Amino acid sequence: MKILVPVKRVIDYNVKVRVKDDGSGVDLSNVKMATNPFDEIAVEQAVRLKETGVATEVIAVSCGTAACQDTLRRAMAMGADRGILVQTETELQPLAVAKLLHALCEMELPQLVICGKQAIDDDANQTGQMLAALADWPQATFASQVVVATASAKVTREIDGGLETLEIRLPAVITADLRLNEPRYVTLPNIMEAKRKPLDIVKPADLGVEVAPRLATINVAEPVQRGAGIKVADVAELMHRLKTEARVI
Ligand code: AMP
Repeated sequence: MKILVPVKRVIDYNVKVRVKDDGSGVDLSNVKMATNPFDEIAVEQAVRLKETGVATEVIAVSCGTAACQDTLRRAMAMGADRGILVQTETELQPLAVAKLLHALCEMELPQLVICGKQAIDDDANQTGQMLAALADWPQATFASQVVVATASAKVTREIDGGLETLEIRLPAVITADLRLNEPRYVTLPNIMEAKRKPLDIVKPADLGVEVAPRLATINVAEPVQRGAGIKVADVAELMHRLKTEARVI
């Protein structure tokens, strides 16, 4: 069983994001980039499935600029067998990525695609779902546990009321939630070994996919600054202020 894992290069989650002065987007110059955290969880899950003999090959895919090769090498250092970079300078929106992944699925014929549940830069939470729709495959999103059999998978999902367990037939798309696993630590020997693993580069046109953005960003703004708090003398004053100033009671 082949497993395809899409990995996105995003701003490192520790970085405080700066918005460009003209409001056209987020400033990416000289900013530390990293693998989308949910995608590391997805890679970990795929690698564990290979280690337990369920999967035979794990293929990491990244769509974006040449710098995404680092993201693929990291996935390979975690245990993915090879990488595919769909290289483009064009800003990619979820539908474009889903189409690229769909085209790769038609070539590679994986039984399972494990995406992150969302990319922490656009917070779209769309790509896995769109891919499942394009491929007409079952999907199980926000997975916190995955048990794969030959032709099906049991996926536990965290939902508001508790846990929901679905059984889906393969091929399918699963999206990884935070509690699915704890990704392994990548060691220097792993990184060195990953340098020797195959990494193919293709262009969207090679896959017959048009990736031009279909949505225009009108404005990106910083969140409104929170004002300083105040100390109140007693409960009576607190109640008074909540009633008359905050108007919440
Ligand atoms: P999103 O729909 O943008 O929130 O992304 C959901 C998931 O789709 C991510 O966690 C990745 O697994 C995958 N994905 C999105 N964009 C890309 C990309 N440019 N390259 C590879 N995978 C991606």
